[in-house]
Amino acid sequence: MTGESAADLIQADHDYLLQSYIRADFVIERGEGVYLYDSEGRRYLDFVAGIAVNALGYGDRDVLQAINEQAARLIHVSNLYHTRPAIELAALLVQSSPAFAKAFFCNSGAEAIEGAIKFARRYARAHFGEGKTTIVAFDGSFHGRTMGAVAITAREKYREPFMPVMPGVRFARYNDLASLEAVMGDDVCAVVIEPVQGEGGLRAAEPAFVQGVRALCQRHNALLVFDEIQCGMGRTGTLWAHEQLGVQPDIMTIAKPLAGGLPIGAILMSQPVADAIQPGDHGTTFGGNPLATAVGAVVFRKISDPHFLSHVQQVSNYLDEALHDLAAERPDVVLELRGRGLMRGIRIAGSAGAVRETAHRHGLLVATAGEDVIRLLPPLIIEPHHVDEAVAGLRASLR
Ligand SMILES: *Cc1c(COP(=O)(O)O)cnc(C)c1O
Repeated sequence: MTGESAADLIQADHDYLLQSYIRADFVIERGEGVYLYDSEGRRYLDFVAGIAVNALGYGDRDVLQAINEQAARLIHVSNLYHTRPAIELAALLVQSSPAFAKAFFCNSGAEAIEGAIKFARRYARAHFGEGKTTIVAFDGSFHGRTMGAVAITAREKYREPFMPVMPGVRFARYNDLASLEAVMGDDVCAVVIEPVQGEGGLRAAEPAFVQGVRALCQRHNALLVFDEIQCGMGRTGTLWAHEQLGVQPDIMTIAKPLAGGLPIGAILMSQPVADAIQPGDHGTTFGGNPLATAVGAVVFRKISDPHFLSHVQQVSNYLDEALHDLAAERPDVVLELRGRGLMRGIRIAGSAGAVRETAHRHGLLVATAGEDVIRLLPPLIIEPHHVDEAVAGLRASLR
């Protein structure tokens, strides 16, 4: 199918791929730095980064070198054997915070969430017997598309067509401690929360709220699970988003940016949680394979470097100012700025999807979150001049 026009390729996409996505009307062929190029040679400034995956942009030399060297050495052997890359990445992740004692690797965000749910139930059963199985999640949450993950995802549209999903879930309101208190009970084994919500609209949790969540978990012997699949790994200016909340989790899920675009997920947990898991309780064929984890170690070392994180903070501040200027200029359209760091939402009057399509015509890729929030997730390596370019593109795209 090489050499065919974009229109031919898009027709073939419709002919052969399941149409579970409405894709943009161009074909992306390659990336370089923070730019993507389509099959007709048009250039796009990428403020989506593969949905917060491509934190180091495109063509990072260290990532490419790690892929090439590890692929030549060993791609996969299964979890029946010890391998160096998985051990090294686990050590890096566990040593990143006193909250963590052990890591479990899988292949995606949803899989990390499924594992976290299983570990929470296993822990509750080991300590408190049967019946302590309820999971509490929040409105605006997104945790993935598998039967457990979708059950704790707030949006009805994602759950309703597939009922029955995993039972035993209650929802509380984000940043509303009283609403959590109302649904907490001794049957709750875990409370799952995104420190900054992704798909659900880019709201950031307030420190006092999360401190209250921690206290309620303590009172009811429930584990606190942070889903940092989107907001973790430097995206908000600190290595982990929860560092800005003054609360540590019992379990944390990560995934998106961890292996430079290769599929990976991880569950980090405290020693008491790890102690509840026996050999055979959980498993995976591909999870923790040498290729993904070798690249993960390279990506982790780069992002966790204090110089890198301080770059993210500086360029985040610059973006924040530029967005506030835009909001001041266009109070008729920009209703609210949300998010933290390089994970920002712009709630607008009108359709975010329409702005996204217009931005494409201006050579700028942005995402959306729901009907009325434009979502910005640039690679973490952007410079201030990229922010200027993106905000100019946004300005031209807001009607
Ligand atoms: C993307 C995402 C998931 C699901 O990850 P997949 O790799 O798509 O399964 C879960 N939680 C959050 C916060 C996410 O952003």
